[in-house]
Amino acid sequence: MLTDTHCHLFYDQIKTDLDSVLERAKTLGVNRFICVATNLDDANECLELSKKYESIYASVGIHPHDSKNAPKGYIEKIYNFMKNDKVVAVGEMGLDYFRNISSSKVQKEVFRSQMEIAEDLNMPVIFHNRDADNDVLSILEDFPSVVGVAHCFSSTEDTATKLIELGYYISFSGNITFKNSHLPEFAGRLPLDRILVETDCPYLSPVPYRGKPNEPGRTRFVAEKISDIFKLPLEVIAAETTKNATKLFNL
Ligand SMILES: [Zn+2]
Ligand SMILES: [Zn+2]
Repeated sequence: MLTDTHCHLFYDQIKTDLDSVLERAKTLGVNRFICVATNLDDANECLELSKKYESIYASVGIHPHDSKNAPKGYIEKIYNFMKNDKVVAVGEMGLDYFRNISSSKVQKEVFRSQMEIAEDLNMPVIFHNRDADNDVLSILEDFPSVVGVAHCFSSTEDTATKLIELGYYISFSGNITFKNSHLPEFAGRLPLDRILVETDCPYLSPVPYRGKPNEPGRTRFVAEKISDIFKLPLEVIAAETTKNATKLFNL
C-alpha cells in the first residue's frame, strides 16, 4: 500500500480516464491519493473528486505561479474549502524563482497568507520550492507551529536537514529516479520517518517512463528507488511512507 501525496488529477488526460488510472494504480499498490489544487478553480475539482472517491483526499491552495491571479477574497474562500472533511492540507503554496511567473513580492504575500490560515486552523501545508530555499525557510520559520511537506524536493541536503528540524516532511517524486539526480547521494541519510512519496502527475514521470505523461500509480517507481537507496525492502518503504502520510495529513 502506497500513498501518492501529491497528484493533480484534474488535468484532462487523467480526469477523462480516471477510473482506469486508479485501477492501474491499485495494480501497482498505490491506493490513496492527495489531489492538490493550484488555484481555486481546480480546488473545486479536487473537492468533487474527494467526495466521489473514498481513496482521494484534497488539498486546497494557490500555487506560486497562480498567485498573481489570486481572486479577491481568496483567503476567506480557502477557509470555506477547509470546512470539508476530505480537505486535509493547505496548498500547494510556496515560491518558484525559477520561472517567476508571478513576481516574488506577490508570491511571498500569497504564501504568507496561506501559512496564516494553516496556523490558525492547525492544518498541515504542502509547499512548492524552486530556487527559493532561503526565502522559503525564512517564511516557514515565522510560523513555528505549522508543519507540512516540501513537495517534489529538489534542493540540497542542508535544506532538507533544516526543514526536518523545523518539523517538515520531505517528499520525493520521479526526479529522484533520473540518471543525473543529486538526490540519491543524500536521501538515505534522512530520517525515514520524515519521508513521503508522490508523483506530481501529470508531470515528472519517473524512469522508465521519463518524458511521458505521469499518473499516480507510478508512485511505485519512486518508492522502489527509495527502497534501493535505503537498502530496505519495498514493503518497509511502503509501510513507513504510508504511516508518515497518515500521521501528517491525519487521514
Ligand atoms: Zn509543485
Ligand atoms: Zn504540484
